[in-house]
Amino acid sequence: MAELITKPKGTYDVLPSESYRWQYLESVLRKAASDFGYREIRFPTFEYTELFIRGVGDTTDVVQKEMFTFTDRGGRSITLRPEGTASVVRSFLENSLYGAGLPVKCFYIAPNFRGEQPQAGRYREFYQFGVEYLGSPCPSADAEVISLYATILERLGVKNIQLSINSIGCPECRPKFHAALRAYFESRQKELCPTCLDRLGRNPLRILDCKSPICKEIAQGAPSCLDHLCEECHEHFEKVKEMLAAMGIDFTVNPGIVRGLDYYTRTVFEFISTDLGAQSTVCGGGRYDGLIETLGGQPTPGLGFASGLERLLMVMDAQGIEIPKPEGCRIFLAALGEAAEVPVQKLVYELRKLGVKAERDTTGRGLKAQMKYADRLGAAYSMVIGDNELNAGIARIKDMSGGGVFDCPLNAEDIKKAVM
Ligand code: ATP
Ligand code: MG
Repeated sequence: MAELITKPKGTYDVLPSESYRWQYLESVLRKAASDFGYREIRFPTFEYTELFIRGVGDTTDVVQKEMFTFTDRGGRSITLRPEGTASVVRSFLENSLYGAGLPVKCFYIAPNFRGEQPQAGRYREFYQFGVEYLGSPCPSADAEVISLYATILERLGVKNIQLSINSIGCPECRPKFHAALRAYFESRQKELCPTCLDRLGRNPLRILDCKSPICKEIAQGAPSCLDHLCEECHEHFEKVKEMLAAMGIDFTVNPGIVRGLDYYTRTVFEFISTDLGAQSTVCGGGRYDGLIETLGGQPTPGLGFASGLERLLMVMDAQGIEIPKPEGCRIFLAALGEAAEVPVQKLVYELRKLGVKAERDTTGRGLKAQMKYADRLGAAYSMVIGDNELNAGIARIKDMSGGGVFDCPLNAEDIKKAVM
C-alpha cells in the first residue's frame, strides 16, 4: 500500500459530521452583520507582499515572523493573506468604493495564514469573521462596531467574555507617548528580547505587545498612553465609553491593550474569554485612521475587528452551548428484490426533487442490513418496496421513532405529504 499523506502542520479538517457547527456559527455571524448593515466582501487568498508590509507594518510579529511568502513564476513576491483588513482597504481603493458615498460597511468570513507555532486555538490556517467600517471619524462608529460583536456573543449564548478597551492616540499625540515609552524601555534596555531591542528605535509601542515573558513583565510598568492623549483623542474616547455605557455594554479600560498590528489609532479593543487557556482573545479590533492613506488613498478614517472562528467554537464547546443539529434523512426506501431496484431509484430521485431528504442503499445490502443503515442515517420514516408493493401501488410507511405504520400510495407527492 502507498504511504499515507498527512495534512500540513498547523492545519485541520472540518469533518462532515462537524461542519454543521461551522455552518451554524457562520449563519449567526452573517445574520448579525446584515442586521447591522454590513454587506459581504470577498477577496483573493493571496496578495502582493507589499500590501501587508505597508498595511500591517514591518515592525509587527505578523510581518517579521509569520507570513507565508513565496515568489511566483513571474518573479513577483506573493503572500498568503495573514489578515483581512489590508485586503479590504486595497479593494476599497482599487474599486473606488468611496465613490458611492461613505461610510462603506462590509464584512468577510475568510481563511488567513500565519506561520505560528501551532497549539490549541492557534493554527497556520485559521478563519476570521471581520467587519470594516470605512469613512466615519465619529465615536458612534466605534460604539456600533463594538456593539455588533457584543450582539453576536449574546445571540450565540456565549458568556464570560470581557471587553477591554483602550485608546492609543493619533499621530498628533503619539510622538510624546513614544518618547515616554522609549525613555522607559531604554532604562530597561539590557533585559529586552532582540526583536524588541530593534523595535525600541523604530516603534516602541510594539514592545507592549511582545509575547516574551520578560518583555511582558517590563511592559507592566510602562507609561500609559491614556496619560498622553491629545484633547481630541481624549474626547473621542470619552464619547465611546459614554455610548457603550448607554447601550448597556460592559467594558473595562485596559491601557495594556495595543493590538499586534501597526495601523491602529485611537480606540482599540479585545474581547477576552475566561474559559480559554493561553489563546483567550476571541476578537480584536480598533480604529485605523491612517491606514487608507498609507495604502495610497485619500485620508479616510476607518475601523473594524476580526474574530477567530476556531476560538469562538472552542468557547461554545467549553460552555456546553448546544448547536442545532441539521435535519437528518426524512425517509429511507428499502428495495426488496431485483424488480424494486429501478422503481426505488426513480422514487428517491423524485422525492429529492420535491425537497424531501430521501435515501436508499447503494451498496447491495440485504433488507436487514438496509434497515440498520436507515437507523444509522437517523431516518424519520422508512418504506420497504418489493414485488407486492409494486403490484398494489401501495407501500407501508414506518415511523422509525414510534414504530407506528400506515399505508401510502407509491408516488412521490403522496409520500411527501405523509412524511413532512
Ligand atoms: P494573538 O494575540 O492570539 O496572536 P493577534 O493579535 O495576532 O492574536 P489578530 O491579528 O488581531 O490576532 O486577529 C484577530 C483574531 O483572530 C484573534 O483574536 C484570534 O481570535 C484570531 N487569531 C489570530 N491568530 C490566530 C491563529 N494563528 N489561529 C487561530 N486564530 C487566530
Ligand atoms: Mg498573533
